[in-house]
Amino acid sequence: MPFPYKKVDSTDIEYIKSVTSPDRVAVGDEIKSEYYHDEMPDYGVFPPELFVEAINKEEVSAVMKYCYDNNIPVVIRGAGTGLAGGSNCKYGGIMMSIMKMNKIFPVDHKNQTITCEPGALLIDVQAAAADEGLFYPPDPGEKTATIGGNVITNAGGMKAVRYGLTRDFVRCIEAVLPDGSIVNFSSNVVKNTTGYDIKDLVIGSEGTLCILTQVTLKLLPAPKYTRTLVIPFESLEKCADMVPKVLDLPFVPTAIEFLERELLEIVERTLNKPFPVPVGNAVLIVMYDASSKDELEAACDSAAEAALENGAIDCMIADSPERIASVWSVRGAILEGMKADSVAQEECDVVVPRSAIAEYVKSAKKIALSHGIRVEPCGHAGDGNIHTEMLRNPGMSDEEWKSATHASLVELYALSKKLGGQLSGEHGIGNGRLEFLEPFVGERIHRLYKSIKLAFDEKLVLNPGKIVEFNK
Ligand SMILES: Cc1cc2nc3c(=O)[nH]c(=O)nc-3n(C[C@H](O)[C@H](O)[C@H](O)COP(=O)(O)OP(=O)(O)OC[C@H]3O[C@@H](n4cnc5c(N)ncnc54)[C@H](O)[C@@H]3O)c2cc1C
Repeated sequence: MPFPYKKVDSTDIEYIKSVTSPDRVAVGDEIKSEYYHDEMPDYGVFPPELFVEAINKEEVSAVMKYCYDNNIPVVIRGAGTGLAGGSNCKYGGIMMSIMKMNKIFPVDHKNQTITCEPGALLIDVQAAAADEGLFYPPDPGEKTATIGGNVITNAGGMKAVRYGLTRDFVRCIEAVLPDGSIVNFSSNVVKNTTGYDIKDLVIGSEGTLCILTQVTLKLLPAPKYTRTLVIPFESLEKCADMVPKVLDLPFVPTAIEFLERELLEIVERTLNKPFPVPVGNAVLIVMYDASSKDELEAACDSAAEAALENGAIDCMIADSPERIASVWSVRGAILEGMKADSVAQEECDVVVPRSAIAEYVKSAKKIALSHGIRVEPCGHAGDGNIHTEMLRNPGMSDEEWKSATHASLVELYALSKKLGGQLSGEHGIGNGRLEFLEPFVGERIHRLYKSIKLAFDEKLVLNPGKIVEFNK
């Protein structure tokens, strides 16, 4: 095993500058502190010894080969919006940003695909597809994340209910392995049973197996009609009970999200973003896409009827582009609002079978409250991915907060497992959820994970100490 890793010295600095460019390399105090952590500093703040921006796969490959040969850890940095403590230099070494590798190539109409470098932003990829009348459906909340970050974390998001996850849209990948080899996983084909499916294995591997240098993504024809319904309820429990009923209708919704009134008030108070329609104590937001007006009307009518039969206070159509944008903008601002409203946050990102959503929500609130924690379950209700946000109040000491969140997480993960769920639905394991993984999946599966890591990265130089830890 490689511990301890080699420290970066002046020879290493000169070499990295020679294979990249001196003006794209920073060392020590020159490195901005934002590169010490991702969007969850509680999951680790670790300064890199050297920061470098790569501009092409050859540079990525040269840096990796050198670090592999010299036992220096490397962590890849996209936009740093991750929520698992993945993009930080836990063992020091080099942080390599791929943000300057951000080309988006022209849409391939014959194959209905788009190819991009990993640093292209999701928002720009979505726009490039839309400009050609096509649609890239994955829609995670943070639109300024990189497409490479989305692929390597298998980002989910709002529209997973209808369209699936980022993985479902990845045709092929070009990557650099930890030893510096440049490889392709699959090609622009619709199906492929050539050997093991490594493409699907590296999607979601959180930068621990390889570095993405180019991705080709499947596109769909853009939906012609879309509508957002806002359905208020007297309680979060009633709102959660409604989710499987909407899913049981003969129309597949694009997104179903639920929010408690308190969360909407937090966003209004902290970010000055009021929710545009009156709500009860909780609100269900349902979106439908359709290829004809009739199909859209039928879907919305059936959802409205089911909601009113099941205790909804009302069923409103967000009827103007401004109002639709405002509804989804409040939903998108939840995390930012919670950050502004509390001293610290801990997030449990479990996913449960859709049939168990209501039971999870009801029990999760009780669990966190029993440990004295303010809790706000919200999120992608339609796919069972309930972000259970725990918020720290100013009165809590560090010790109280740590032990209360830990005790809550242990119980919440046990609850998810009991209900047939999983530990993380979309944010991943990174450094933040590391200790909970082995107890959740069991020793045998965990050993398999470690073997997979070693098969790609025998010397453990790429993002070490994330997902699996060998140094203990
Ligand atoms: C407000 C907000 C809302 C969010 N909503 C969602 C959501 O709805 N769904 C969801 O799934 N996530 C969500 N996220 C989390 C985050 O946006 C995603 O995980 C995103 O995919 C991370 O992309 P990034 O470019 O920021 O990656 P980073 O944070 O820079 O990196 C994430 C991990 O990927 C690795 N990595 C990055 N690029 C590469 C590459 N090219 N090759 C190899 N490894 C790489 C890093 O080493 C790290 O381990 C949200 C985050 C925020 C702040």
